[in-house]
Amino acid sequence: MKREAVEILSHLVAIPSVSSMSNQPVIDYVLKRLDRRAWNIDLHPYHDPAGTAKNNLVAVTKSQHGLEPELALVCHTDTVPFDLGWEDALSGRVRNGKLYGRGSCDVKGFLACMLAAISQIDIKRLAKPLAIVLTADEEVGCVGAKYLVRKKAIQARYTIIGEPTGLRPVCAGKGYALGEIVVRGKEAHSAFPAEGRSAIYDAARVIARLERIAKKLAAKKNAAFDPPFTTLNVGLIRGGSAKNIVAGKCRITVEWRPIPGQDPQWTARLIQEELARLAREYPGLEAWFDIVRLDPPFDPAATDHLATLLASLSGRRSTTVSFGTEAAHLSALTSEAVVFGPGNMTTAHKTGEFVPTAELSECTAHLMAVIETLCR
Ligand SMILES: [Zn+2]
Repeated sequence: MKREAVEILSHLVAIPSVSSMSNQPVIDYVLKRLDRRAWNIDLHPYHDPAGTAKNNLVAVTKSQHGLEPELALVCHTDTVPFDLGWEDALSGRVRNGKLYGRGSCDVKGFLACMLAAISQIDIKRLAKPLAIVLTADEEVGCVGAKYLVRKKAIQARYTIIGEPTGLRPVCAGKGYALGEIVVRGKEAHSAFPAEGRSAIYDAARVIARLERIAKKLAAKKNAAFDPPFTTLNVGLIRGGSAKNIVAGKCRITVEWRPIPGQDPQWTARLIQEELARLAREYPGLEAWFDIVRLDPPFDPAATDHLATLLASLSGRRSTTVSFGTEAAHLSALTSEAVVFGPGNMTTAHKTGEFVPTAELSECTAHLMAVIETLCR
């Protein structure tokens, strides 16, 4: 019984489900475990931009009342890529109380606990409906979750979104926004710089202003977070074509993570304004800004019944996270959302990813208790 989540997780880790692949094999694995006499199952398939088939699953327990689900358990089915030289990537091997493999922590561990929990509960006895929601393409922009929100695929009172939080309930998170600034100059032979205009020199001016914006963002605090403000990062610059050519183009990739209560558009506007100012100060400077992503923060709900319940079960106080989750999107489909799950995000997304097996048993027990409490 106690080992069930570990066994399920070993199977799940052995099914590769990197975002670039179809997630159907994971969906199929879960479908095999759901008793059709107890669950109504809806599938929401789509094709990703590469034409790969993706699927989202919404399963709701059958109930004579036909109520909307009291509790939804949400989990993404994709993982980040892995190094082909990592021999444990798909092994699901357990060593010293840790189960290794890609996705073990982010986030098949939670999925295994969810499946172990529902297999140990008499689902038909639940008075209020329980839902299971599996999403595709979380790691590449919460695509599946956004799809389900657009389709209004479900409305649940309480929602637990699985992510590695070390079994601490998380009730708020930063948003995620991404943009690209393209600076245009004029190419020339580097022996005659006056004939051209260096996009790299202009980009340097832009970057100095971005640093100034980052300082401005740091002045607006939300003490619930670490760090307690919207962070901004220039993660990439690509410009120029050769050492002896005045650069004709330079691209700057900029990312920011807005705190709850702050519209991600606000930083975008600050960047736009600064570019307009630079163009006035440096005649001929040409730069434009494309927003690639604007995922809102995960704002805390008006009530905290679910977070309080999970905190008392786990004995861990609720907290906030600085990484993006599906919660910001799925908040539209629920009154209260909490992010919760076994493992630590700092071990995810790298070779050697693992989840402690003790946390799997603990999470399974908490999920059973939450289901029994809320859906009784
Ligand atoms: Zn995840």
